[in-house]
Amino acid sequence: MREIDLHIHTTGSDGTCRPEEVVRMAREAGLRAIAVTDHDSVLGYAEAVRAGEKLGVEVVPGIEISTKYRRAVHILGYYIDPKSPAMEPVLSWEVQDREERNRKMAALMAADGLPVSYEQLRERFGPAMGRPHFARVLVELGLAESIDDAFAKYVDKDKKYYVGRNFLPIERCVEIIRGSGGVPVLAHPFQYRLDDAGLRGLIELCLDHGLQGMECRYSGYDADMTDYLLRLAAEYRLTPTGGSDFHGSNKPQITLGSGLAGELAVPYEYLERLREVRDSI
Ligand code: AMP
Ligand code: FE
Ligand code: FE
Ligand code: ZN
Repeated sequence: MREIDLHIHTTGSDGTCRPEEVVRMAREAGLRAIAVTDHDSVLGYAEAVRAGEKLGVEVVPGIEISTKYRRAVHILGYYIDPKSPAMEPVLSWEVQDREERNRKMAALMAADGLPVSYEQLRERFGPAMGRPHFARVLVELGLAESIDDAFAKYVDKDKKYYVGRNFLPIERCVEIIRGSGGVPVLAHPFQYRLDDAGLRGLIELCLDHGLQGMECRYSGYDADMTDYLLRLAAEYRLTPTGGSDFHGSNKPQITLGSGLAGELAVPYEYLERLREVRDSI
């Protein structure tokens, strides 16, 4: 049953729809609940909750934190308290780290003669801006045909305007989410190009530090992939979650609630189980 979407980006990070717009779209899509999971930021949450109350859509507070493992791995955190002593310093560090990186990227582009200034970009896109915003500007300047094309030519790792960021070690991230009252969930497990043994290694490491869930339904994951993830989740006693990773026109192929080609359907039961996990702590 297609009832919820627990993985959504807003203008609080690199989504192109405002939180309120996302809630409205969720209602139009017939969803009962959504989670706002912006990258390293909770900027979209308050507006989403207000809109949710007005429009009758349950809004779950979430975040998606980029961490360091062998490659970058994303951990979703549901129901975190952003003001908790565990989480607050991390969130301000994230903002600062991102800002330093963004300044460097803007400077590289300006040094190349492009009409780009960090201050203008910051004004336009807000404090949680990232590479998709740079990619958008490159498209506007006629240097790329699409966001994807701009990534491939300019802002993917090792390309001309790429500047890396600093990430939390994955173990710390899982602990910090737990320490702030949240439920840590391994995001999109097939994105890390690990084989079965590799994925198990990642899960077991995270479990040692308090991992409680795994994203089993995700845009583009077919029935076989989902069954495999659900089996792994059951084996490790991880609660299953699911979401689209909607980013608005920054990832135009992904539709809120229903994924890439309508394959995504996340039942409300997953949210009930997630709440039980939160309450069991
Ligand atoms: P950042 O956190 O600023 O390094 O930007 C990373 C974000 O860029 C990811 O979370 C994705 O949402 C997005 N992204 C990465 N690769 C691509 C791509 N090829 N096309 C569109 N968006 C991408
Ligand atoms: Fe993103
Ligand atoms: Fe992600
Ligand atoms: Zn995401």
